[in-house]
Amino acid sequence: MGHEIAHAAMRHSTRNLTKVYGIQVLYQIITGKAEPGLLEQIAISVVALKFSRDHETEADENSVTYLCGTTYNAAGAAGFFKKMQGQPSPPAFLSTHPDPGNRVLNMEKRKTELGCKGTMTNQSAYQAIKAKL
Ligand SMILES: [Zn+2]
Repeated sequence: MGHEIAHAAMRHSTRNLTKVYGIQVLYQIITGKAEPGLLEQIAISVVALKFSRDHETEADENSVTYLCGTTYNAAGAAGFFKKMQGQPSPPAFLSTHPDPGNRVLNMEKRKTELGCKGTMTNQSAYQAIKAKL
């Protein structure tokens, strides 16, 4: 969740749109002078555009920063990527993302740099929810 919050906080979607459409087109939309249909096209792009690898790395690092002051393991998301590394065919979306091994190392490095002390996970709550499904 910290990762997704970081994408929003760092305005990755807005930065992607600016790169694709240019600041002038975005200005036309804000001032109501855009061509009909352009807004719908951009709305579709928001969903379809992938974050760059740099944005993914930035979001990973910020997620550690956000959690560092809590009792949670600030690099807890690294566990997901450790599991993915052992899979024979990783999910397709990971092919456009940074290497899972690098993501684990980056998050753990950031945690060490910041001196994050939290160790708590939500495994027991997660298992309780899984048991009800
Ligand atoms: Zn992401």
